[in-house]
Amino acid sequence: MAKRLLVLGAGFAGSTVAHLLKDRFETTVLEAAAEPGGGCRTAWYGGHPYTFGPRVFFSRDEAVIATLTALTPIRRFDTISWTYVAADGAFYNYPLQGADIPRMPDAAAIEAELAACRARRPRAEDFEAYWLDAIGPTLYRKFVDRYSRKMWGVESNRALAANWEWVNRGTPIREGDVRLYQDQFQGYPEAPDGYNGFFAKALAGTRFLPSTRVTRFDSARREVHTSAGVLAADVIVNTLPVDALFGFTYGRLRYSGRSFIPLVLPVAQALPEGIAWVHYSGDEPYTRVTEFKKITGHASPHTLIGIELPNETSRYYPVQSAVERARFAQYQAMFPADFHSIGRHGSFQYKGIPDAIRDALDVAEAVLGRARAAA
Ligand SMILES: Cc1cc2nc3c(=O)[nH]c(=O)nc-3n(C[C@H](O)[C@H](O)[C@H](O)COP(=O)(O)OP(=O)(O)OC[C@H]3O[C@@H](n4cnc5c(N)ncnc54)[C@H](O)[C@@H]3O)c2cc1C
Repeated sequence: MAKRLLVLGAGFAGSTVAHLLKDRFETTVLEAAAEPGGGCRTAWYGGHPYTFGPRVFFSRDEAVIATLTALTPIRRFDTISWTYVAADGAFYNYPLQGADIPRMPDAAAIEAELAACRARRPRAEDFEAYWLDAIGPTLYRKFVDRYSRKMWGVESNRALAANWEWVNRGTPIREGDVRLYQDQFQGYPEAPDGYNGFFAKALAGTRFLPSTRVTRFDSARREVHTSAGVLAADVIVNTLPVDALFGFTYGRLRYSGRSFIPLVLPVAQALPEGIAWVHYSGDEPYTRVTEFKKITGHASPHTLIGIELPNETSRYYPVQSAVERARFAQYQAMFPADFHSIGRHGSFQYKGIPDAIRDALDVAEAVLGRARAAA
């Protein structure tokens, strides 16, 4: 008899792992929403397709790219984003571009600070120390300080760990190439419904249970409690927040939340040609405004923009502080055998779509390797 696999959550991580293992396991996928995909699912407003925030695909990982493109062809384009600095009354490239500095009102002070920065290696102690050392106090204030605090919902950037590989994607100040993801495969599905076809194909042949909420996991009995009853399996792959799953044994993991406002405007294009989104780095209540037709390629005499507002109630960005990582490690220690926890929530890391697919590939390989060894 085929072994049973239970996948908790049908976002990118859960759908991909179900797709990779469904031929070898009797696979059940539990999803609280009525449809799979999480925030990457395309919805429509006034005929305009959009997702919850921009969900551009980018990767250098050939296996990840192949896994996605096998199920949904990708239209390639280069993402360019800007930051608005209200104090300067100006828009600048983001990530920071050396060529923008001369047009900043405080360019002379910034150049002097950058000269001092070049003499030292940024401290990786915390997010604030890293950025102060990398770009100096004036650029830090302009681009990072307030933005990061509102993005993560923290009082101080000293609360955030800095040893993230993604910190400014490698170079604090770039020269020349304004693309957000340089030298990478990047783009968005060709299909008008975005990634939706990916999720449908990935889950075909599984027992997909939408509108089924997981309430907790009884680790000792290996039972998953859901709004539709109790389920058990030989292998469990979790992509949900682990604090709720394990009954908040070690307290609540801290997240930064978002609400999202889709807004149609009576113009063909709101942001300049090629600019997909703008970050707002000051006291504005929003963090980012995205123009979706730049991503989806949707044609219309009107345009849809999406405004993201941080909140403390929803759970989107796992706060990467030492305290929260330590709390997550306590939950990790509770994971039983043949229980894998992946994706943004399951690993409590600031992951993107390619990382969620990579996690799924790694777990599928580990599970299949174990099954082969046992045979
Ligand atoms: C605003 C925003 C913009 C982003 N833009 C990009 C981008 O441009 N490029 C990029 O690469 N990444 C982007 N990301 C990140 C990327 O989308 C995520 O990393 C990725 O989708 C995570 O996939 P996942 O499967 O790990 O988690 P999720 O997509 O969160 O999947 C978890 C699933 O579990 C379901 N679920 C939750 N609770 C329960 C429960 N109790 N019972 C059952 N089901 C439940 C959810 O409905 C969801 O479908 C963005 C993230 C945000 C928040």
